[in-house]
Amino acid sequence: MKEKLGFIGLGNMGLPMSINLLRADYEVYGYDTNAQAMEQFVAAGGIGLESAKEIAKQCDVIMTSLPTPQIVELVYQSEQGILHHAKKGSLLIDFSTVNPELNDSLHTEAKALGLRYLGAPVSGGVIGAVNATLTIMVGGDTDDYKIAERIFGIVGKNIYHLGTSSSVGTRIKLLNNLMIGFYTEAVAETIVLGEKMGIHADTLYEVLSNSYGQSRIYERNFLEYMKNDNYEPGFSTNLLLKDLKLAKEMADEAGVSLRIGEKLVDLYSEISQQGYGENDMSAAYLSLKETCKIEQL
Ligand code: NAD
Repeated sequence: MKEKLGFIGLGNMGLPMSINLLRADYEVYGYDTNAQAMEQFVAAGGIGLESAKEIAKQCDVIMTSLPTPQIVELVYQSEQGILHHAKKGSLLIDFSTVNPELNDSLHTEAKALGLRYLGAPVSGGVIGAVNATLTIMVGGDTDDYKIAERIFGIVGKNIYHLGTSSSVGTRIKLLNNLMIGFYTEAVAETIVLGEKMGIHADTLYEVLSNSYGQSRIYERNFLEYMKNDNYEPGFSTNLLLKDLKLAKEMADEAGVSLRIGEKLVDLYSEISQQGYGENDMSAAYLSLKETCKIEQL
């Protein structure tokens, strides 16, 4: 008999991931505080429950894809949370991007309660969640990883078990997102300057795609968002800002000065304050145009 799966956080990432599990013929129970997300999940064949506590009580594997470490803490550690209500032996998998210390403390608490826990942040964006091509960076006990492997194979493509520390995947994920912060601003600055000099963004993209300026983020931000003048996230500026702050904390702790990375925290804070926080991160382009008082195309 297949396990009962629970999924908490049915947002841009969690909804398509849970739909892929439904398509693989799993019984999936879901919960989200947003009624619209719940409707979409139920319309796709999922079974909606009314709280994280209910998911914890009923499911054998409980997955989460939540926006911030604070919300992850609430959903796992509060009195109504997963840790207090999950059945002994249940496997908890957190796909959210959080601070490494949180992975470690949840792992310790889960073990003490007879539960299993894996920190498993993902990369690959909404497209990767929809097409099940996510990269999954997993930290945690090998036995627990083996139980989860089948599920990871359904929602992702490049799966790495990086060690028995539950935070090792998160550390790598935050390094990835530090680079995303650089690239996203680089794409914005390059295109705005090019356009200001009369170079069409399509021409620039074609030439730079065959040059060392090419990057996955250039491809993503330009083709999926900027070219279509569509800034619905995707990956929001505020989520990128959260990850850059976490990367900075990680660097401070390691005693490494992030010469540009530190400035990125201020930069994306400003972009967010300009009103682009809930837009896709590629709106750094709109923000720069606004700052330079350049008319939108
Ligand atoms: P999102 O904001 O689209 O989705 C989060 C969902 O969690 C929302 O539907 C929200 O209603 C729900 N939620 C909030 N509080 C809740 C609670 N207390 N109980 C239940 N549900 C609650 O965010 P997302 O883009 O899907 O990202 C989720 C996580 O994945 C984040 O940690 C993010 O950093 C990470 N991530 C996102 C992307 C991306 O491209 N969007 C890529 C990789 C990793």
